[in-house]
Amino acid sequence: MYLILFGPPGAGKGTQAARLSAAHGLAHLSTGDILRAEVAAGTPLGRQAKGVMDRGELVSDNIVIGMIANRLDEELAKPGINGCIFDGFPRTVAQAKALDSMLAERKLAIDALLKIEVSEDEIVERLLNRARQQHRSDDNAETIRNRFRTYESTTLPVAEYYAKLCTKINGVGSIDAVTQRIEAALPKA
Ligand code: AMP
Repeated sequence: MYLILFGPPGAGKGTQAARLSAAHGLAHLSTGDILRAEVAAGTPLGRQAKGVMDRGELVSDNIVIGMIANRLDEELAKPGINGCIFDGFPRTVAQAKALDSMLAERKLAIDALLKIEVSEDEIVERLLNRARQQHRSDDNAETIRNRFRTYESTTLPVAEYYAKLCTKINGVGSIDAVTQRIEAALPKA
């Protein structure tokens, strides 16, 4: 099963992806997590990405596509893994097209895009809370607004691109409630 977990920043993609990954033996590939690890390690890529992330803009397509391409085979080769959840990727139509060809080369394809929906007001409140708890440098009010605008202008078209595979999930409620909605929406094997 190859899933895209889609939605605005703060929709709960990371939390839900971790749960789905554990429950279904799916690799969890998060470009945001990979980028934060590069920033923390102070790599040249991390130094380059940090400013972009702090402004709430998108890191270039080539960089994130390369990150996924580098990890996909390695992740899929791990024991007990029978698919993948893409979390925070693809975020542009160019990334979506690159992902489709990466998968097609391996005779694979995306089965579903789960679009977690949460209003902008709720997002801002959640992310400001997270900023207070986790000190993420990309979680200040200005960056949050920017990330949301980037989502609307550049990332929403990805859901259109995968319209036939897209299922909307109400992202408001407890973490368990959202997990149950996602489970109910998963394609039947
Ligand atoms: P996330 O944790 O997925 O919200 O990602 C945090 C930040 O990393 C984003 O605001 C972007 O600056 C960058 N980023 C993560 N994934 C991507 C992607 N697929 N394309 C471009 N930039 C990304």
